[in-house]
Amino acid sequence: MDITLDMPARYIPHVGPTMSSRLSRLGIETVHDFLYHIPSRFDDFSLITSIARVQPGQTVTVRGTIDRFGSFFTKSGKKIQEAKVSDASGSLSVIWFNQPYLRTVIMPGESIALSGPIAWFGTKLVMNSPQFEMGEKEPGISLHTGRLVPVYPETEGVTSKWMRTRIAFLLQQLLPSVRETLPDSLRDTYNLMGLSDALHAAHFPKNTQESSRALHRIAFDEMLLMHLRSYTEKKKWTETQKSIPMKGYDPLIDTLIASLPFVLTQDQIIAINEIRSDLKATVPMNRILIGDVGSGKTVVAAIAMYLVAQNKRTSALLAPTQILAQQHYQTVSQLLEPLGVSVGLITGESKSSGVPYDILIGTHALLSKKLRIPKLALVVIDEQHRFGVEQRAILTARNKQGKTPHSLMMTATPIPRTMAKTMLGSTDVSILSQAPKGRQTIKTWVVPKTKRESAYKWIGEQVHKTEGQVFIICPLIEESETLTTVKAVTGEVERIRKRFPTLEVGLLHGRLKPAEKTSVLQDFKNKRYSILVATPVVEVGIDIPNATIMIIETAERFGLGQLHQMRGRVGRGNLQSYCLLFTEQEDERPLTRLKALETVHSGPMLADIDLSFRGPGEVFGTRQHGLPLFKVASFSDIQLIKDTQEALNTLNLESWDLSLFPLLRDTLKKGTI
Ligand code: ADP
Ligand code: MG
Repeated sequence: MDITLDMPARYIPHVGPTMSSRLSRLGIETVHDFLYHIPSRFDDFSLITSIARVQPGQTVTVRGTIDRFGSFFTKSGKKIQEAKVSDASGSLSVIWFNQPYLRTVIMPGESIALSGPIAWFGTKLVMNSPQFEMGEKEPGISLHTGRLVPVYPETEGVTSKWMRTRIAFLLQQLLPSVRETLPDSLRDTYNLMGLSDALHAAHFPKNTQESSRALHRIAFDEMLLMHLRSYTEKKKWTETQKSIPMKGYDPLIDTLIASLPFVLTQDQIIAINEIRSDLKATVPMNRILIGDVGSGKTVVAAIAMYLVAQNKRTSALLAPTQILAQQHYQTVSQLLEPLGVSVGLITGESKSSGVPYDILIGTHALLSKKLRIPKLALVVIDEQHRFGVEQRAILTARNKQGKTPHSLMMTATPIPRTMAKTMLGSTDVSILSQAPKGRQTIKTWVVPKTKRESAYKWIGEQVHKTEGQVFIICPLIEESETLTTVKAVTGEVERIRKRFPTLEVGLLHGRLKPAEKTSVLQDFKNKRYSILVATPVVEVGIDIPNATIMIIETAERFGLGQLHQMRGRVGRGNLQSYCLLFTEQEDERPLTRLKALETVHSGPMLADIDLSFRGPGEVFGTRQHGLPLFKVASFSDIQLIKDTQEALNTLNLESWDLSLFPLLRDTLKKGTI
């Protein structure tokens, strides 16, 4: 059977069902996935030397003949395997610890190549636990020794050594038939390695320079594809979707803006104007509004909904939680009802069907099939990442006349601008990067174990002095036996009540019934509690202007973006606010990561920093958010994003026949990279 790129991995010789199910734990389902399983690092075994010249402390490769092989026990009872290997210059003892199977592999009289560290063992020089391969090997074609040896992301039962042999086999089978995907002109301009050379060198490079060129080529493909996908999606959207175009009502909108109790920020004005012009178009708006917590997204949405109401059409605002739906209901009805706009609230508990409101606000209940929303022309989705693609599709489905409602998504997930523009496909992006006037930066400190008590003392004094309120966020609901150092709300609330006996302390977590959650928050808002101990449910946009202190326990468990979002729960009024990040961590790296919050107060910047510490998968929870994950490319590589965008613009896409580029086409079809 011919091996093809889309063939399931289990049909690869020597893979089979057991290994393929292990491989799928690494995300490897097909031959293509396997070829693009990129090494996480290389062992440098490229120093090849004669046995007589080995030095302690060196990592080297030697080639020779096996003189003998045996096992013995050390004084401490460890079982050791030892081989004597010699070449023309001398002989060397090679040892492994507790690898009894080696006696069936390492046969006296045969040739062997070994790569590993040279060390003292008692009074003699040995090679310690080396990689090896049997038989005569021409330099350059060995896989496990004598070169830069790839080390792969592994999983139980799948070693790098095994993957090396399988990938080498696939490369040998496939490379002759892998066709170049990029036009020569483009490869010249950007000095890119050919695809089949790059695939080979990504796994078995001659040197580190060749390895980086190979990875650069693969990253280029990935990022180019991302742009290409955005381009095709956008094209499809504009060609297939028809909207209900709105009239502008400019004087009315301007009057509303002038009557707001605050001055809009420049970014808010830009976003509102972008939305106003989108709503007038015959192609439905498909826009995301990205802005830190507290950046004022709600008022932007409210103005859009007001415009739609003037057109005698309905808007729906979908919120991820009841608390938020209620809060939006309050804000929006306060602002718009005096202007004659009717606002309805639909939550799990207050069902109504087909009611004629200008604006409907609700939770998942809005998605119910029974609920008819007549004349729906605008869908606003708050914290859009909380909803799946299918859920969003229910609301934005075409109406009977084949028209698609405009949609505005809002998120506080700090996505860097370059990343958002590259990967959001047919979605246009508006960003609120300025905080409204009068907001102070939230003073932030990382608090180590030793300072905990003095921090508590300070908090007590602050509450006494300013009557400000305090959030304490813990990662867990209940204490766990396996995560003994991670704080949980149920235990913490008791400790806090003991530590602050004169203060009222509330408790909020995800397992409370919706009505209980609402009443705890309402009580906190009404200042019945000074301290609220909560799980990260408060992460989404609750507005409590009197809360001035945010404490986050076991802070290292959270991403910087998430911490920034939680920090945004305080500092909503005009009072000086504080964020204390408690951690028991003493290692430098996680502490450095957390300390970024002390000086950086912009969500997108923190997202970039987190990216450099933890990689995009962890930072953006890639799976849940449905963001594609690169194998090699990175959104922090601004130059690559620029080059590939430019490259795409120079390609004549109409005549660029993707069928010539099976790899690109297949990946595009699969929708993932
Ligand atoms: P988010 O972007 O997190 O959803 P909100 O829309 O809830 O933020 O706004 C947070 C608070 O800021 C609200 O109380 C809102 O009334 C207020 N606000 C919005 N825009 C401005 C502005 N330009 N100046 C001052 N306050 C504003
Ligand atoms: Mg909000």
